[in-house]
Amino acid sequence: MAVNEIVFKQITEELDAKHVTLVAVSKTKPVTDIQQLYDLGQRDFGENYVQEIIEKQAVLPPDIHWHFIGHLQSNKVKYLVPFVYMIHGVDSLKLLKEIDRQALKNNRTISVLLQVHIAMEETKFGLDEEELNELISTLPGLPNIALKGLMGMASFTDDDDIVRNEFRRLKALYEKINVLYAAQFPGSQLTTLSMGMSADYRIAIEEGSNMIRIGSLLFGVRN
Ligand SMILES: *Cc1c(COP(=O)(O)O)cnc(C)c1O
Repeated sequence: MAVNEIVFKQITEELDAKHVTLVAVSKTKPVTDIQQLYDLGQRDFGENYVQEIIEKQAVLPPDIHWHFIGHLQSNKVKYLVPFVYMIHGVDSLKLLKEIDRQALKNNRTISVLLQVHIAMEETKFGLDEEELNELISTLPGLPNIALKGLMGMASFTDDDDIVRNEFRRLKALYEKINVLYAAQFPGSQLTTLSMGMSADYRIAIEEGSNMIRIGSLLFGVRN
């Protein structure tokens, strides 16, 4: 199935007015779909699987910003670090340390988002507030990590109030963490709050998101 260009144009107009970045989530979709959106001006693409993002970046234009939004295992970090633009799902010190180590080897600084657990479901990955504070305190020892902000996924539910409350909590946490971060790195600030997907991005933006990750609305449903 091809990309829905009408929806793409509507969403990008909506987002430009609000200064929200669109990450087009192209997992499982062919490179021809990505190229189609690229030709319409889209540059930020998100992928969940290491093998897939490697294969795609090898054949697509070099100025694409590749966002890794899946759950990343430490032993795969080395494959991403040479080209990845931002890693969204970081939720352990082990992973953070390995990203820093590989980034140093590649003479890069890697932008990361820490993933926070905000949903009701037990299965979703992510940190709680205490773990988040702990990770923030390790950052001075990880010079090749550039913490940009937080990422979270709301519960999978039709109840908008639940989703809204979860996003609201994440935004409040983001503000708190930003103060902590600025205290450690005077003059620096977090910039990115990645929350909102196809089903809930409007609520996420109302609650303060400035980066949304949209897959199925743009590329059609995945198998
Ligand atoms: C797949 C995925 C998305 C996109 O989901 P859609 O509902 O298709 O928009 C966003 N974020 C993450 C972390 C994902 O895994």
